Amino acid sequence: MPAGEYDVVVVGAGILGCASAYHIQRLNPGHRTLLIDRLPAAGQANTGRSAAMFRNVFNSGDNRTLADTSIDYYVHLAREKDVDIGLEMIGYLWLMDERQLKESAPQVQAMEREGVEFRDYSAGELKKMMPSLTTEFQPGGEHELMGLEPVAGGLFAKKCGALRPEKLVYHYVDEFVRLGGKVAFNTEATELLLEPDRKLGLEHEPFAWQESRITGVAVRGDLHGEIRSKRTVLATGAWANGLLEPRGMDSHTKAKKRQIFRVGTSGSPELGGLLRTEGFSEHKTIPFVILPRSGIYIKPVKSENAFWLGCDEEVNRAYIDVPPELDELQPEASHYENNIRPVLKEYFPAFAGARPSSMWAGLFGINSIDHLPYVFAESGVVVVAGDSGSGIMKGDAIGRIAAGVCEGSDEARLYGGASYSVGRLHYRDRKVEQEKWLL
Ligand SMILES: Cc1cc2nc3c(=O)[nH]c(=O)nc-3n(C[C@H](O)[C@H](O)[C@H](O)COP(=O)(O)OP(=O)(O)OC[C@H]3O[C@@H](n4cnc5c(N)ncnc54)[C@H](O)[C@@H]3O)c2cc1C
Repeated sequence: MPAGEYDVVVVGAGILGCASAYHIQRLNPGHRTLLIDRLPAAGQANTGRSAAMFRNVFNSGDNRTLADTSIDYYVHLAREKDVDIGLEMIGYLWLMDERQLKESAPQVQAMEREGVEFRDYSAGELKKMMPSLTTEFQPGGEHELMGLEPVAGGLFAKKCGALRPEKLVYHYVDEFVRLGGKVAFNTEATELLLEPDRKLGLEHEPFAWQESRITGVAVRGDLHGEIRSKRTVLATGAWANGLLEPRGMDSHTKAKKRQIFRVGTSGSPELGGLLRTEGFSEHKTIPFVILPRSGIYIKPVKSENAFWLGCDEEVNRAYIDVPPELDELQPEASHYENNIRPVLKEYFPAFAGARPSSMWAGLFGINSIDHLPYVFAESGVVVVAGDSGSGIMKGDAIGRIAAGVCEGSDEARLYGGASYSVGRLHYRDRKVEQEKWLL
C-alpha cells in the first residue's frame, strides 16, 4: 500500500509509542494519526521482553509523579473499567542488611512524607512467612568471600506489582483505533524526511541557509514510499538514534543489554512453597523481591509455576551498539551462573540446584545522565526515549507528555488531573529531580 499524509505519524509500537498515539488521538479526535512498527504486532520488542513490574517507590519527585499517575491509570483500567491488563498488586520487597536499613531510613522517611506507603518487616517475620529465606549466615560460608551480610529486615511497598505488557499495549492500540487512529505493522521507517519550509525546487535541497524541518518518514514494507506528517513522533526505544543520527540529531541515550532467566518450581517443594507464600498480598505469592546490594531480583510468576530472575547491574555491563534485530541479542547463561546464582543461593538455598528453563535478552534505552526519560520536540520531531528501564511503569504519563509536546503545550495533564511541565523532560534546560533510591 502506498504511504500518505497524516497530521501525526508515530514510529514504534512499544508501550511508549502506543500510549503516545492513543493520547494524541484522545486529545485530537479529528486528527489523522498513524502508528507504524516494523514488527508484525505491537509490543513485540523490549516491551514484550520486560519483567513488566511497576512501583511508586522513587525519591525523585519527577519519577514518582510519572510512575504514580501511570499506576493510578492502570489500576483504574483494571478495577473500574474491567480491562484485563493482567494487573497483580503483589508489592515490592527490598531485603536489606543492617547497614542498608540504616542508610535507607532518611530516604524512606522522605518518601513517606510524600505519601509512599511502606511496611517494615523484621528478619524474624520474614523468616516465618518465607521459611526458605536464610536470615542467619553460618561462619565460614561463601557469603564471607562474597562480602554478603545477612538479611536484617525488609521494606515492603504496596502500590507496586506486575502487569502483562502485551495486554496493556493492546488496550492503547484498540482505543487508538476506536478513536479513528490508523495502524500499520510490518512497516519500517528507513529515513526521516527533511525538507525546507520554502521549497525552491532545486536539486540537493535543503541547503544550510534554508529553514528546514522533519516532514515525515520514508517507509518500506506493508506501507512503502513517503509518509508526510505535520509532526513525527519517534518512539523507537533503544533504536532512537538510528533515524536521528543520519540527520545530525541525537536522542542522548545509549543502550545496555538486560536479561531474564526463568526458573521453574517443579521438583522443588521448597521453591513451590515460596511461590505460594501467603500474607503479603491477595495474590498469595511472594512480592517482587530485591536481594541486598546486588541488584538481583526475583519475580514470582504463579501462572507459569516459575520465578523470573534478573540483575540490573550497572558497572561492568557494557553499553552496546544496538543490533537491528533483538533476536541477535543472546542471553548469557554465564550471567546467571556467575552473577545471579551465587548470591541467590546464599539468601534462598532452595535455588542452589535450580537452572533456568529459558532465558531471553532485551535492551534498556538509557539516559546516562539522570536515568529519567526524554520527551522533546526538535525540528518537527518529537523524541520519546531514555526511559532507562522503566517504560512500562511510567508509560501512561510519558504518553500524555508526548501528546502535550506534540500539541506545543507547556503543560501535560496526567491521569488524576496533575499538571506536569513538559519542559522538565527536554534535554535542554532540564529540571528533573535526580533519583537517589538506587537499591
Ligand atoms: C529484561 C528487561 C526487563 C525490564 N523490566 C522492566 C520492568 O520491570 N518495568 C518497566 O517499567 N520496564 C522494564 N523494562 C523496560 C521496558 O521494557 C522499556 O522501558 C519499554 O519497553 C520501552 O518501551 P519503548 O516503546 O520505548 O520500546 P520498545 O518496546 O522497544 O518499542 C520500540 C518499537 O520501535 C520499533 N522500531 C524501532 N525502529 C523502527 C523503525 N525504524 N521503524 C519502525 N519501527 C521501529 C520496534 O520494532 C519496537 O516495537 C525492562 C526491559 C528489559 C529488556
